[in-house]
Amino acid sequence: MRKQLFFNTFAEYIKRYKRVVILTHVNPDGDAIGSSMAFYYFLTKLGVEAKVIVPNDFPGFLSWMPGVENILIFDKNSDKGVEYLNNAELICYLDFNHPSRTGLVHNDLCHCKKTPRLLIDHHRDADFSQFEMYLSEVETSSTSELVAELIQYHGFDKYLDDNIATCLLVGIMTDTGSFSHSIYHPETFELCGKMISPTVNYQLIHNKIYNTFSENRLRLLGFCISNRMKVLNEYHTAYIYLSKQDLETYNYQVGDTEGVVNFPLMIDDIKMAVLITERQGVIRFSFRSKGDFSVHELASAHFNGGGHVNAAGGTLECSLDMAVEKFLTILPQYKALLSK
Ligand code: 5GP
Ligand code: MN
Repeated sequence: MRKQLFFNTFAEYIKRYKRVVILTHVNPDGDAIGSSMAFYYFLTKLGVEAKVIVPNDFPGFLSWMPGVENILIFDKNSDKGVEYLNNAELICYLDFNHPSRTGLVHNDLCHCKKTPRLLIDHHRDADFSQFEMYLSEVETSSTSELVAELIQYHGFDKYLDDNIATCLLVGIMTDTGSFSHSIYHPETFELCGKMISPTVNYQLIHNKIYNTFSENRLRLLGFCISNRMKVLNEYHTAYIYLSKQDLETYNYQVGDTEGVVNFPLMIDDIKMAVLITERQGVIRFSFRSKGDFSVHELASAHFNGGGHVNAAGGTLECSLDMAVEKFLTILPQYKALLSK
């Protein structure tokens, strides 16, 4: 569905539904929360009642965001979550496009297959046949940018307020690493410029997201770089591995490893950075790259994952040692691409 057609028909379409669920992906990040909450506020202004569901908790550095106290965290309150899903007339997917990205919600989502779906997302490989309406733009910084465009189309003067602007700025800021990557066109800056105002202070928002570490979190970052980072110059790659024990030592809290994967990319000539973390029963991979090396390709080919050209994730069900081993064995096939 073309963007303009989505914009043109959206308001009339959404008003047909009374009970709407807004759902985002597991391990929600700034864009997941920012786009979902801004969309929620927009729907409220259009007179549409919505509930926001996240599969599991979001990091503490997002807990100050407007309205997040009303988000239903599915793994803490699944009875209510199932009730919302079963009663929904429309389910909106924000910042993901495949049900397998919804963690514990996945099973219950399958039970309400007949409920119409709407998609707003910037990830690739969406199956559009699942959706009654979709706004899917891969070459866009973030889902928040798409929601910003949607609201702008209906009139910033009428619909933009401080809560919406704050949520959208958080989403765009976090998905672009503070405007350092994933920017495809100047409109990203123009939209942000329109959302900043005397009462929506970009620097204050930036501080709340990036400068609110606990002492443990900063020490964990230091430990990752000093003790757990391996640099493979031959492959222009650096990776960091973290065991469950390492996380316990630093009293790990949700979100504490957010951003760690970006640091190895600060080394000149390193094109790919990887964070390999032992989590509850699985190994999580986080990939980042500079330039046109696609970590999405690598994550989807070998690590049951995907994402974007420069940022992707995946999982393996094995030990940490085996996960690192697997990563090392696939590297040679990417040597030429990484050396470009
Ligand atoms: P992160 O490394 O921050 O967890 O994820 C980076 C990007 O990859 C995000 O845009 C996220 O949506 C995507 N991503 C992370 N994990 C997965 C996964 O398991 N599957 C897919 N398809 N995308 C993922
Ligand atoms: Mn996103």
